[in-house]
Amino acid sequence: MIAIAELPLADTLARPLRDLRISVTDRCQFRCTYCMPREVFGRNFVFLPREQLLTFEELTRLAQVFASLGVRKLRLTGGEPLLRRDVERLVAMLAGIRDIQDIALTTNGALLAGKARALAAAGLRRVTVSLDSLDDTTFMALNDAGFPVARVLEAIAAASDAGLAPVKVNMVVRRGVNGQSVLPMAAHFRHSGHVLRFIEYMDVGTTNGWRLDEVVPAAEIISLIGGQWPLEPVAPAYHGEVASRYRYRYRDGAGEIGVIASVTQPFCRGCTRARLSPEGRLYTCLFAGSGHDLRGPLRSGASDQALREQVAAIWMRRTDRYSELRTLQTGRTQQVKRKVEMSHIGG
Ligand code: SAM
Repeated sequence: MIAIAELPLADTLARPLRDLRISVTDRCQFRCTYCMPREVFGRNFVFLPREQLLTFEELTRLAQVFASLGVRKLRLTGGEPLLRRDVERLVAMLAGIRDIQDIALTTNGALLAGKARALAAAGLRRVTVSLDSLDDTTFMALNDAGFPVARVLEAIAAASDAGLAPVKVNMVVRRGVNGQSVLPMAAHFRHSGHVLRFIEYMDVGTTNGWRLDEVVPAAEIISLIGGQWPLEPVAPAYHGEVASRYRYRYRDGAGEIGVIASVTQPFCRGCTRARLSPEGRLYTCLFAGSGHDLRGPLRSGASDQALREQVAAIWMRRTDRYSELRTLQTGRTQQVKRKVEMSHIGG
């Protein structure tokens, strides 16, 4: 039993619960080779039937429960969150929750140009758009859906025009695949007002054939870009920020970049994020092997207080520091393999 007096909630490593990532669908139009490769998520892959997805009302109720336990930031993800019909209605419902200070969304950009204004009007504050190269051949080989770069750039511009600026742009870097795109991407987004973030290619379990030698360490990316345009570190904007920030040293409006070194410099100690899968399972780590069912209790009439106690108990037992342990073990050539599907709990 959790008494509200025990708030703020902390897990076994004294980490508070601050952020909730909500995966609103397991579906995506892209088949990014590092995330939802076609060999696995092909024609015969069975996605969740609609009735298994949490409804907007259920999602809002759960978000309220999480807000009462300390969550202040929500991020909608997927799968591709803009594939969820009327997702802007969900944004508006979430924006009405007292204590939620920030709602963001991560998207591949395919449907963003047409939705940016409605999303901003509904209360979305920020958007992150994924783009792994400016070169069509490289990008299309990665998204495996024939989707061109120009459409993503249009989406970024539309989001910015709709007031969702600065847009964050996520680039996953995989050696031998799009490593050559790092400098052109940096050049393109300098002076754009958008913030480009380079993400180390992560092992998402058995689905993407991950190999350590395909990870381009964040330090290498910083030294590559810094060799061209000198960089200096910027202090984190808030406790627990996952990206390490750098700005171009000559303050001529070139802006800043970020690196997310989940593999080489894991940030488990500062991780305040919980993740909700489309069918209502709560994961306390991106790499958690299994989640905790919240849809069952929700649909069988659990009270808000009962849900609060369930979530609080899960968080207080939380011990996860998967990436940290894996980095230690990788050093000793031992690897722990667990399965995670980004389509279920979002990146
Ligand atoms: N469909 C949306 C999109 O494309 O942004 C949201 C879901 S996607 C899983 C969220 C983020 O996770 C994207 O920026 C994606 O590039 C990143 N991601 C997916 N697989 C990854 C991997 N193996 N390593 C690092 N980042 C990954």
